[in-house]
Amino acid sequence: MSQTEMKKLFESKFGADSRPYLEVRAPGRVNLIGEHTDYNDGFVFPMALTRHTTILAKARTDATVRLASAIEPQIAEFKIDAVVKKEPPKWSAYPRGVAEALRTRGLISVGVDALAATDVPLGGGLSSSASFEVASALILLVANHKQMDKVELASACQWAEHHYAGVPCGIMDQFISAMAEEGHAMLLDCRDLTRRQIPLDNAQIQFLIVNSNVKHELVQGEYTGRRNQCQRAVETIARHFPLVKALRDVTIPMLDESRMQMDPVVFRRARHVITENKRTLEYAAALEAKDWGRAGQLMYASHVSLRDDYGVSCPELDALVEIAATVDGIYGARMTGGGFGGSIVAMGNHQSMKALQAAIDLQYPEKSGRQATSFVTTAGAGAQVLQASQI
Ligand code: ADP
Ligand code: MG
Repeated sequence: MSQTEMKKLFESKFGADSRPYLEVRAPGRVNLIGEHTDYNDGFVFPMALTRHTTILAKARTDATVRLASAIEPQIAEFKIDAVVKKEPPKWSAYPRGVAEALRTRGLISVGVDALAATDVPLGGGLSSSASFEVASALILLVANHKQMDKVELASACQWAEHHYAGVPCGIMDQFISAMAEEGHAMLLDCRDLTRRQIPLDNAQIQFLIVNSNVKHELVQGEYTGRRNQCQRAVETIARHFPLVKALRDVTIPMLDESRMQMDPVVFRRARHVITENKRTLEYAAALEAKDWGRAGQLMYASHVSLRDDYGVSCPELDALVEIAATVDGIYGARMTGGGFGGSIVAMGNHQSMKALQAAIDLQYPEKSGRQATSFVTTAGAGAQVLQASQI
């Protein structure tokens, strides 16, 4: 939605007013590599999309927040000093949680009339929720003439997702949405939250995000099962190596030493996590060396490991990656996100993006009986205040 369209919609919801609009935006994200490593104290490698949640607002003089969304009919209304945990509309849980997190830090007292719009696909594993939280936090801060440390801002947003939306997510999504740098992806160590911005040459490489448009059932149960298997692997390995606290601390030779004491499935789960951590570090190094071919191989290897060792892919994701591997100029592709459906991410040169889209349009329906939806992105910027003043 263009800014002009947003202004029109804002006026239709809240009436005209001659002050300029406050404006902020925060991106969605894609994880380029490092899957199912976060809860093993490992490495992840997210990149901000060039797609965002944008919020236009006018500051109020009281504590009321009235928030409209371009994709929702109802206006959410609440008071900053009396936020209720469960209150309709359901989608307002995110901004309400954020408001409560900022209020308890003594940062906000004044509310806003605001309109949110997004071009991040909702529920597609690209973290529209984190982008909505981070944008909500920024608009409230701007209206209250306050600033916040970005790490603190990300953890306030994570708190909102845990306690108001009821999703026990890690910190990756809020971190990258708040802190991305344009033209970079972020190598994040989930053990101590240290991070490195790795340059990604936006002139040379682009990414195609392809949604398989499948969501298989039982995802939550499978997820819990994988976490338990990782824990069992750690317990077994720690009998030989007492310093091991998480799979992050384990090498393949260490795993091999415990192989005989381990269920074969648990062994394969652990092998995925250990090799995936290694691939993630190598991927960062390959990008720094602008070795796109090597980086691409690591993406394919990650997919194979998620499919065969971790058991979280599905035929539709496999089909998309197989199609990508046949297209000239595509360096690599893999499923991204938790698995059992959702999206793949493919990395290639400019010319390859259209060719891959065409190949998918042609072959995916045949292979899966479905249509995929896709878009091109480069490494986008983190959350930004676009208009901070109404004077
Ligand atoms: P993902 O983060 O992968 O997109 P989630 O289920 O975590 O999926 O978050 C999607 C939810 O976030 C939506 O169902 C909706 O409640 C909320 N949401 C995100 N962006 C908006 C928006 N612009 N307006 C209203 N709700 C939004
Ligand atoms: Mg989400």
